[in-house]
Amino acid sequence: MFFGRCERVFCPHRLFRRRFPRLLTAPNGLRYITGMKRRGDSSPGAGIRHAAEKANSYNYAAAAFIVLISFLNPSKTSIVRDPTLNVLLITLDTTRADRIGCYGYLQGRTPNLDALAQNGVRFENAYAQVPLTLPSHCSIMTGTFPFSHAVHNNAVYTLASDKLTLAKILKAQGFKTAAFVSSFSLDSRFGLDLGFDVYDDNFQEGSPSERRAGQLYPVFSNWLDGVKDERFFCWVHFFDPHLPYNPPPPYRDQFSDRPYDGEVAYMDFVIGAVMEKIKERNLLGRTLVVVAGDHGEAFGEKGEAGHGIFLYDMALKVPLIFSAENHLPAHKEIPPRVRLIDVMPTILDILNFPRSESIQGISLIPYIQGNQNEDLESYIETYYPQENLGWAPLFGLISRDWKYIRAPREELYNLKSDPDETRNVFVVERKKASAMKGSLDKMTKESLVPGSSGKRVLTADEQERFRSLGYVNYSDNTPVVEAPDPKDKLDELKMIRDAEEFEFEGNFQAAADLHQKMLSLRPGVAASYDNLALAQARTKNFDAAIQTLKQGLEKIPHSEILLSRLGHTYLVAGRTDEALTAMAEVLKINPQHIDALAASALALGNMGKKEEAREYFERALAVDPGNKFVLTNYANFLAVDGKIPEAVEIFTRLTQDFPQDDKPFQLLGITYGMIGDYDKAIENLKKAASIKPSPSSYYYLAISLKEKGDFAEAVRYLELYLEDPKGETEPRIKKAQATLEHLKKLRNK
Ligand SMILES: [Zn+2]
Repeated sequence: MFFGRCERVFCPHRLFRRRFPRLLTAPNGLRYITGMKRRGDSSPGAGIRHAAEKANSYNYAAAAFIVLISFLNPSKTSIVRDPTLNVLLITLDTTRADRIGCYGYLQGRTPNLDALAQNGVRFENAYAQVPLTLPSHCSIMTGTFPFSHAVHNNAVYTLASDKLTLAKILKAQGFKTAAFVSSFSLDSRFGLDLGFDVYDDNFQEGSPSERRAGQLYPVFSNWLDGVKDERFFCWVHFFDPHLPYNPPPPYRDQFSDRPYDGEVAYMDFVIGAVMEKIKERNLLGRTLVVVAGDHGEAFGEKGEAGHGIFLYDMALKVPLIFSAENHLPAHKEIPPRVRLIDVMPTILDILNFPRSESIQGISLIPYIQGNQNEDLESYIETYYPQENLGWAPLFGLISRDWKYIRAPREELYNLKSDPDETRNVFVVERKKASAMKGSLDKMTKESLVPGSSGKRVLTADEQERFRSLGYVNYSDNTPVVEAPDPKDKLDELKMIRDAEEFEFEGNFQAAADLHQKMLSLRPGVAASYDNLALAQARTKNFDAAIQTLKQGLEKIPHSEILLSRLGHTYLVAGRTDEALTAMAEVLKINPQHIDALAASALALGNMGKKEEAREYFERALAVDPGNKFVLTNYANFLAVDGKIPEAVEIFTRLTQDFPQDDKPFQLLGITYGMIGDYDKAIENLKKAASIKPSPSSYYYLAISLKEKGDFAEAVRYLELYLEDPKGETEPRIKKAQATLEHLKKLRNK
């Protein structure tokens, strides 16, 4: 049912017809809402806050009526703390709260999120602490502000292993723990795998950097099938609404003018499948479901498209829903401002587990019970402008209705009277601003949790993968005295976003033109030359790319980035000697540079210098023993060199470490074929083809079967191969055709 066309059971136009919510069971068993309460409605779901408001603005009788309804319905406030509950945490990447039906959006289609809100507790004003995926998830998982968990940006930080995470706590309590993430930003190498028995971050189909909700679902579903009676904590992360906005059919057509809404609708559909699975397993009454966004998204407001640069509400306000049948009240809405750091302590409280000292968030249960309605103060920050663009980082504080932002040109907004943050009242409200500035300083100083932090250096492969997610580096990441305010860089920001868009579209010439322009604006920054050279290399203009990098090296000699890019460019251009020289320069600056070591090994291997190549491979593996790229290439090198047992050992290890990747199985199969062990070759190649059908697996399967004398099967696989030999070389296609003809003749004899 789930890959089929989704039924439009939910019609936004019908949203507000009914005064009271009504649940409808759709033919597939999912419960869709067909009527919903409007925000601020005086229906029973509105809760105590509305009672107070009404008492002020209307009349006492109305208020008394509402309070009475709340009182008569015990499920409204009752909470059953229960350590036997399972926890399903669903995080929605890049999902703005105000693009979801239950948050009042009429043009989208989110029946399943709306149903969760309807059956649970919805926080109307939940704030992310950082508008970036990895730091924000670290805040969710540790219940701490970024200055404490010390992960301030994607890619260049790792959550230190001494940090306490929700997964660690629940694992220690005996829960089975599993995570299924959909973006490379959350790859296990960045530390969030702490405490998880299973951490599934494999993205093999389509992109090495992300996967769609529909690719994640079967992995989650298989895992849940393996869970028997144990309690579990399962984290499912959806990445679909992130740029580029490109929903799959039928959402592509249905939301052709609003593709972001289409991505959200598609994600919601898969959330429906996840909930259906929970229901199928009879776990609905035994599972706490928590849905949280990691940050929002800007659509051009305040000059930003995407997220990460600014600290305005559209990038910080996220959906937050808690739902647990018979344990939490249903259709409850909570208006006060709360934070993502409160998610973890709230989950622990619902499970009746003690809250650790290091957690800075608080349990939201008093809010759910209606005993508390004070806004919670939130620290906010983004280092992205500094670390990726060479501009000033931004810090801020949200306190009651006010937001203060510390920047070269400071900002203060009244979120109540000016929710779009269009009027900076920093100068007018100087006293308020100065008080908030003081609180911000105090908060960051006093709340610091000691512990290690892990800044890390990206490999070339990681840079590529982040680039494909839209996180491009335009800065050398050296702190600049008097760095410009991001607000004053809107023209450059637009150019950067346009260049990214061209890269997404594969229009590398247009991207190169823009990078050329940016280079003239930032001639002293290595990243400017790097970006331009990369775009030029992608148009296959290697000479121009090499020229650009050489120009950069004249300005900034000994730049590690530029030298290693030069080495790579020489390598792909087939200029092996020069590649080696450039990489040798990189290794003089940084002897542990993994890409320089790997590229040198490959170049030396290509030149037939086997001993030296082997030495470089081993040096690279001493730096990063689990590096998949290096291991794969090393095993290939060993196989070609006739060192089959060593190659088999490495490939076997890779098949165990990456069981959802077809490539290690394929290479292992080919290696067995090289020594005539066709049974093992066929076994591994079939496994590879079952993970992901590919011409290469079909070809080698056919050859192995032919060698074994199974001509009928060989014919079948050659035909499959020739059906779609995309990416294959002409000589191999010809050879396959000839072999097929030959086998058919043999069969006819
Ligand atoms: Zn994110």
